[in-house]
Order: sequence, then C-alpha cells, then structure tokens
Amino acid sequence: MTSLLKSLSCADDYDPESLNAERARQLILGLVEPLSGVERVGVRDALGRVLAEDVVSTMNVPGHDNSAMDGYAVRFADLTTDGETVLALAGTAFAGRAFAGRLGPGECVRIMTGGVIPAGADTVVIQEVVRTEGDRIVVPAQQRPGQNVRRAGEDLRAGTPAIRAGKRLHPAELGLIASLGIGEVAVRRRPRIAFFSTGDELCSIGSPLREGEVYDSNRYTIHGMLARLGCEIVDLGVVRDDPAAIEAAFRRAAAEADAIVTSGGVSVGEADFIRDLMTQLGEVAFWKIAMRPGRPMAFGRIGSDEKAAWLFGLPGNPVAVMVTFYEFVRDALLKLSGVAPLEPLPRFRVPCVSPLKKRPGRSEFQRGILFRENGEWKVRATGAQGSGVLRSMSEANCIIVVGHARGNVEPGEPVDVQPFEGLI
Ligand code: AMP
Ligand code: MG
Repeated sequence: MTSLLKSLSCADDYDPESLNAERARQLILGLVEPLSGVERVGVRDALGRVLAEDVVSTMNVPGHDNSAMDGYAVRFADLTTDGETVLALAGTAFAGRAFAGRLGPGECVRIMTGGVIPAGADTVVIQEVVRTEGDRIVVPAQQRPGQNVRRAGEDLRAGTPAIRAGKRLHPAELGLIASLGIGEVAVRRRPRIAFFSTGDELCSIGSPLREGEVYDSNRYTIHGMLARLGCEIVDLGVVRDDPAAIEAAFRRAAAEADAIVTSGGVSVGEADFIRDLMTQLGEVAFWKIAMRPGRPMAFGRIGSDEKAAWLFGLPGNPVAVMVTFYEFVRDALLKLSGVAPLEPLPRFRVPCVSPLKKRPGRSEFQRGILFRENGEWKVRATGAQGSGVLRSMSEANCIIVVGHARGNVEPGEPVDVQPFEGLI
C-alpha cells in the first residue's frame, strides 16, 4: 500500500484537527482512482451505469436532410426575392415516405416535419404563409435560403463520439444510443461497497427495543444512498462495540469490497479501539472537519497488500451520516465508478427567509425547504436542526450550505442551496 497518510499530511494547509470541508473533499478525490473492470450490457440495463468506452456514431443523425416544419420544399433559386412566386405542386414527402423524384424548376413538394428533403430542393416554406390555388402554391417574398431544413449529420456525424467514456448514463443517453441502432454498450464494473453500523445501543428492526436502545436507521439511509449511486451493496448489518467483532467485520469488508462505509465509533471518547483497529488494519486519517454536522470522520485504506479497500468512517448521528455521505462519499464513489469529468453538485443562490445561527470558521449544512413565493424561489430552514433529527432530512428538499467564513444569516439574505433531487 502506498503511504497514504504521508501523502495526506504532505499536503500544505493539512490540519487533521480542523480540516476545511472543501479541503477534505479534495484530499479524498485526489487519492481515489477509478476501478478497472468492464462489462457489456443491453441499453436498458445501462441506465445509471458509467460508460467505459466512447459510443461512436455509426451514422449521420439525422440520416438525411429533412424538414423542421410542415410546409413546402422548394428550390430557393426559383423564388422571386421581392414578390410572390407561383410553384406547381409535384407531390408529397411525409415522414417515412419520401418523394421519389427530383424537383424540377418551378416545382414544390408538400412536406411534413421529418420528411426527407427531395432531391433538388433546399428550402422549406412553412404552410402558414403560403396560399394554395388548386395545384399551385403561392409563396410570399422574403424567404431565406436553407430555412427550416435540418441537415444530415447536424446532431451527430458518422465516426465522431456521440457519448464520451466516463459519462453516467441517463434516459437521454439510452435514447441517444438507441437512435444509433446500438443495442449494447461497454460499462464499468459497479463498485462493491460494504457497510456496517457500529454501536451497542443499536437494535435491528424486527426486534423489540430495550431500554436505551435505538433502531439502526443508518443501515437504511446508507443502503438507499449506495443504491442510488448504482453500487453493489454488501450489508454487514450491526456490529457490536466489541474489538473482535469489529475486526472481523473490517477484515471481511476489506476482502470483499472496493470501499467500506461505517457509521459510529469515530468520535472522541467513543470506544477508542475502533480507531486503533482502523489504524492497525491499514492507513487511516482521523479528521475533525470544520463542519456541522459531521465533525469527526475517518478516511483511509485498510486491508492487505493484495486486497485493500477505501474506508469512510462516518459519524454515528443519522443526519451527520447523510451530510458527510453527500459531501464526501458520494463524489468519491462516483470517481471510483469511473465517472469523468466529475462535476461538483450544482448550488443555487436564493434568499433565505429564516434567520440562521452560524459560527464563522466552519461550514454548516442545514436542512432547508425550497419553496416558491410570488414566482420567486426561496428557502426556509426546517425546524429542529439537531444532527440526530432524521425527520429534518425527510422534511427538507435541499441542504442550505453556509460557507466557512460566514456568520449568522439574517432573514432575506442569500444562501447557497443544494437540491436533493434532480429530474426523475
Ligand atoms: P456515535 O458516533 O457512535 O457516538 O453515535 C452518535 C449518535 O448517533 C448516538 O446517539 C448513536 O446512538 C446514534 N447512532 C449511531 N449509530 C446509529 C445508527 N446506526 N442508527 C441510528 N442512530 C445511530
Ligand atoms: Mg457508537
């Protein structure tokens, strides 16, 4: 294993006691490399997968010059520039049923959107502006050459990349691949991620809660987030705060997975053996990130020389788990999956109607609700912002990011928000 901690600590401005959230993100992304392994899948199964090779266009799209509008295909040279032109209707060109002949001088063809431009024609006059007189079509002055014609290869030229390797495939790409007549694509292997929750107080659903116990909710939020990222999931359940059990879980996870996500057990004063164990099994940095929620976090690599896995030791608090996952683990796993270029999540600036208490010197990720008022998007904070209040995550539809240097936010001041959902 390369000397990870050394490379981490060589970074200038590295301070594990108070690491800027953005810096932590960069350190992680600087170390994680895309996994190897490629498989071929059918177009439908490619949804959410990461393209391993460029999809090269096998043809021009559109395949032929075609009409962008319903109207008449004409030869621009036939038109009188400053007056009406009378043309003879020679036939029709509908989508899927081309006009067979060649357009002669003084002729036009009725054409519908998508219809192939007949040989000889170069311009489409929209139907709304012409006058029909039996088999004669009267075209007004002031048409432009080539208007309303979609050129062959305008979307894609044969032999050029239609989609680049590294792209995560959305519905648009499935359609694009299909539009080229391609039935299978090469995608990267999905990363295999093992995860477990630690804590003696944790109870699994199905068992009655005993005094002082809480249900293990992180297991489900982490499952959901990994599934959404398209990972293969190895769920190792709840592991007691017991050195032997935790060591066994780490060893199994490192042997089976590309990365490990744990929750709990990394805060100061908590069962220290988890921290010791992590260090013993690999190279792990313990960070106190200057952020709220989610201050303590471990990051490193554990396992043997033959088989190691990235480790993300998240805090135990349910909200902190989600926030640290979104801010650090998400992009790292996308990079591991081969997504390139990796673009940061979009943030938008909107006025915040709630006052926010905020201390300068750390980044805060508060739960917010984006809403529309008088046509303008605004955000308000959900009620209780405690890092254990998972309901706040469910009520929220965005994270309000209050930057490192900023202090309190007064009602009406702009803040950055990260919406939880994209389109579909
Ligand atoms: P820890 O980081 O282990 O000290 O946990 C911090 C807080 O999060 C404690 O109140 C824990 O009970 C709670 N917690 C830890 N793990 C989980 C979990 N898997 N599900 C729900 N709550 C948890
Ligand atoms: Mg714990």
